[in-house]
Amino acid sequence: MQLTDDIQFLKGVGPKRAELLNKELNIFTVNDLLRHFPFRYIDRTKFYKVNEIKEDFPNIQARGIISNFKTKGSGRKTYLTADFSDQTGTIELIWFKGINRIKQSLTSGKEYIIFGKPARYGRKINIAHPEIDIPEDAGKKIGSSMQAVYPSTEKLAKNNFTSKVFRKIIAGILQSPDIKLPETLPAYIVKKYALLSYRDAVINIHFPKNAETLKRALYRLKFEELFYIQLNILKIKYGRKLKFKGFVFSEVGENFNRFYSEKLPFELTGAQKRVIKEIRKDFASGKQANRLLQGDVGSGKTLVALMLMLIAIDNGYQATLMAPTEILAQQHFKTISGFLEGMNLDIRLLTGSTKQSERRILHEDLKNGKINILIGTHALIEDTVIFKNLGLAVIDEQHRFGVAQRAKMWKKNINPPHIIVMTATPIPRTLAMTVYGDLEISVIDELPPGRKPIKTIHAYDGQRLRVFKFIKEQIQAGRQIYIVYPLIYESENFDYKDLEDGLESISRAFPPPEYAISVVHGRMKPEEKEKAMQLFVKGITNIMIATTVIEVGVDVPNASVMIIESAERFGLSQLHQLRGRVGRGADQSYCILMTSYKLSKEAKIRINTMVETNDGFKIAEVDMKLRGPGDTEGTRQSGIPFELKLADLSKDYKILETARHAADSTLSEDPELKQDKNQILVKQLKSLITRNKKWGMIS
Ligand code: ADP
Ligand code: MG
Repeated sequence: MQLTDDIQFLKGVGPKRAELLNKELNIFTVNDLLRHFPFRYIDRTKFYKVNEIKEDFPNIQARGIISNFKTKGSGRKTYLTADFSDQTGTIELIWFKGINRIKQSLTSGKEYIIFGKPARYGRKINIAHPEIDIPEDAGKKIGSSMQAVYPSTEKLAKNNFTSKVFRKIIAGILQSPDIKLPETLPAYIVKKYALLSYRDAVINIHFPKNAETLKRALYRLKFEELFYIQLNILKIKYGRKLKFKGFVFSEVGENFNRFYSEKLPFELTGAQKRVIKEIRKDFASGKQANRLLQGDVGSGKTLVALMLMLIAIDNGYQATLMAPTEILAQQHFKTISGFLEGMNLDIRLLTGSTKQSERRILHEDLKNGKINILIGTHALIEDTVIFKNLGLAVIDEQHRFGVAQRAKMWKKNINPPHIIVMTATPIPRTLAMTVYGDLEISVIDELPPGRKPIKTIHAYDGQRLRVFKFIKEQIQAGRQIYIVYPLIYESENFDYKDLEDGLESISRAFPPPEYAISVVHGRMKPEEKEKAMQLFVKGITNIMIATTVIEVGVDVPNASVMIIESAERFGLSQLHQLRGRVGRGADQSYCILMTSYKLSKEAKIRINTMVETNDGFKIAEVDMKLRGPGDTEGTRQSGIPFELKLADLSKDYKILETARHAADSTLSEDPELKQDKNQILVKQLKSLITRNKKWGMIS
C-alpha cells in the first residue's frame, strides 16, 4: 500500500464512503486519512454502573445484559428498543436505523459492553445507537484504553460514519504489512529535539500505547507542523538578506537632533525610546530593515515614525508614510507638518484626490529630491510615483494593505527601502511569530503618561434613558460623543435599519438646535462621509452616529464617550479598536457597551474582558482563545490564511519557540537549503506549498 493510494480501494471504504470523505473532509488518499487526526480520546478503562449514568454525561461505557427487544412505531418511523441492565438498574437502548442487522447480531440475555452518549427521552435514560462489543473482545484492540475520537460532519454522522469506522479503516492501513511511513524531518533534528519518529507518532496518535506516548506523538506532530511554517517564512527572510543590501543610515544627524532638542513637546516614553534604538540598530546594520511595530492605540507610533523618517533624511534619503485612508493620511500630514514646523523640510501629501496639476509638480519635486517626506494613501505606490532616493517607507495600520501593495513599496528604489509596518491591532506573540514571522517585531507597550484609563461600562438596552442622560451631561461639559452601530457582512443594507432606528430615537432625544448630529455609514458617497467626519472633527457636531466605517486611527481628542450599540455583535478586537477612538485627550473618557439581556456565553466573555482591561495584548489573547488563530483579526486581515491541524497557538507557545529556533538554526547554517541532509526539507516544503498554495504568498 502506498500513501498516495486512493482511499476508495481500502477495506471498509469503497466508492460511496470515499465520495463522502472527499466531499466532507477533503480526504482523498491514504495519507490524507492518516493525517485526519483525532481531536480527543476517551478513556475506555472506566466502566459505569447503570445507576451512576446521568443524562448529561458525555460518552460512557458500561457492562451489562441486553434483553427485551421491542420494535415500535411503524413505517419509516419504526425504531427498536432494548433494556440494558446490571445489578444496579436498567436503562434503554434505542436504534432508529439498521434494526434488522442489530436484532440479528445481538443475543437477548447475553452480556455486552456498550459505549455511547446518554440522553433522556421522557422518563427513561437511554442511549441511541451505542457502540457494542462483546466482553471477550475488549482487550484485543490495538492500542490501549485511550480511544480516538475523530472530527466529523453532520453528513458523515448521518451515514453512520462514526469514530469507530475511522478507527477500523485507519487500523487496517497501519496493520498493512507494506505500508511505509517515512521520516518527514531530517535525522539530525529528530535526534537533537528527541522527537518520536514520524512512524511512531502517527501510530500513537491514532492508537496511543499510553498517555505518555500520546503526549510525545502529539509533540512530534505539532513540532513538525510549526517547524515547516517557520521554515517557510524564515527562508523568505534569509533569502532577502542574501539578495538585497540595505541602505546604511550610519548617523543621527542635524534634523533628528534639532527635533529632539527643540521641537519635541514632551519626553518620549521608555518604550518609544527602546523601539527607536532597536530600529536604529537595523538601519546601521547594512541589511534591509523589515520590522513590525506594534503598539496599542494612542501609544505614540506616529511620533516614532516621524523620528525614524528624520534619521533617513539625515543620511541623505527620502522617507514616505503610507496610510490606509484619505482621512488618516491627511491627519498624519497635519500632525507631522505641525511637529516639524520651522525645520525647513519639504513635506507633501499625495492622495487620490490630489489634483492633476498639483500631482505633476509633486512628481517632479519627488524625482529631483526636493521633497523630504511624502505622506499619502496607496496613491503613492503607483508606478508614476518615482522617488529620487527613497530610504524608508513606513506603512501605517498595515493590516489594511494587501501583500501585493506592500510589495510595490519594495521597488521604489534600486535596493528596497527599509520598511516599518505599524499596527494598532495587537497580535499575540505566537501569532505574530507565525503570521509576520519574517519580520522583526518591536512593541510599544507603554502609554504616554497622564492618560486616564478609559472607563468601560456594560449597560443593557433597558438602561438607555440613563445613558442618554449621561450623554447630555458630557455634551454640556463640552465633550463629543460617538455612537456606533454594527455593520454586518460589511454590507451597508443589513445594518442600515439598526442605524436608522437608532438615529430616529437619538434625534428625538437630542433635538436641534441644542444638539447637532453627524451621520456616517457605508451607503454614503466618500465625499459625503468626509464632510460629515470633518464636521465632527472640527467640533461643530456633538454626536457622531456611525457604523464601523468610522476610520481606524481618527483622532478627535475632544470626543470622550464611545457608545457601542449591540456590542454583543462585535468581535473583541473590533470593540477594542472602537474604544481606542476615545481617551485621546486629557479628560476622563468612557466606553459604554450596550447589549440586550440575552447574551451567549462567548458574548459575555467578550463584554467582561472589555470591562476588565484596557490592555490590547490581553484582549488579543482572549480573542485568539475564543476564535482560534485563523479567525483572529490580525490574521484574517493580514491576508495570510493558515490553518493549524494540531498546534494551538494559545497553548503551544513553547513548542512554537522551539520549532522556530530549530528552523532558524538550520537556515543560519544553510540559508538556501543546499546541503544533503536538508534535501528532505526542500521536498517537504515543496509539497506543503503545492498543497497550501497561499503559503507561497507570504511576504
Ligand atoms: P498611535 O500609536 O495610536 O498612532 P499617536 O501617535 O496618534 O498614537 O499618539 C497619540 C497621541 O499621543 C498624540 O496626540 C501624540 O502627540 C501623543 N504622544 C505621543 N508620544 C507621546 C509622549 N511620549 N508623551 C506624551 N504624548 C505623546
Ligand atoms: Mg496611529
